[in-house]
Amino acid sequence: MLKLENLSVHYGAIEALKNLSLEVHKGEIVSLIGANGAGKTTTLRTISGLERKTSGSILFQGEDLSKVSSSAIVKKGISHIPEGRRIFPKMSVEENLELGAITRKDKAQVQKDFEKAYLLFPRLLERKHQIAGTLSGGEQQMLAIARGLLSKPQLLILDEPSMGLAPIIVHEIFEIIKNINEEGTTILLVEQNANLALKISKRSYIIKTGTVETEGFSKDLLAMDEIRKAYLGG
Ligand code: ATP
Repeated sequence: MLKLENLSVHYGAIEALKNLSLEVHKGEIVSLIGANGAGKTTTLRTISGLERKTSGSILFQGEDLSKVSSSAIVKKGISHIPEGRRIFPKMSVEENLELGAITRKDKAQVQKDFEKAYLLFPRLLERKHQIAGTLSGGEQQMLAIARGLLSKPQLLILDEPSMGLAPIIVHEIFEIIKNINEEGTTILLVEQNANLALKISKRSYIIKTGTVETEGFSKDLLAMDEIRKAYLGG
């Protein structure tokens, strides 16, 4: 579904990604793991058209995305939930969700997807008229994910969904991520909590200084001593 080949990205003189290659197959959850500054966020932002490559290629369903605008990339079926959530704090929950569907013309289906989103996130239904900035951190993350789903993505990209949340809420959000995947959405996940990332995903890539250091089935990586030492606290 998604294929990055020898992708390089620079911020001025800084080479944030160097010859990074990875693949996401339809139906998978794939995670990217690595230390701060390894290049995970840059990888996601480049897929979504928010940063531009200096070389290499990004293919989504066989089509080169490197010159497609970020809004057109959403229409092609990629939805990106950024780190830090970025909901609109002064708008209500419902208004935030409406923005997620803004590019869609299939209004009857949008209505159904609203109902689905509220079924997946009953707390958002209870709070649909609440101003989003007054939600808890976990609820804001739920809102960000629900809004992302309303663009009806085939590929959902999540950057650090557990950031700053209590373990019990993280557990709840990861259960929802699993549900979303089981219902057919492919997921690419960046997650600082390597243990969680390896447990939820089918395959993972360990990113180090802008390139893939190790890749494999998550269950195999979980069992590797060097991975346990470096990323799972021994
Ligand atoms: P984190 O978990 O801290 O977000 P990351 O693995 O997502 O880390 P990136 O944010 O992609 O890493 O950063 C990769 C490299 O690019 C780092 O060296 C970082 O300092 C640099 N970088 C990221 N964004 C910018 C920017 N806007 N301008 C300059 N350098 C940047």
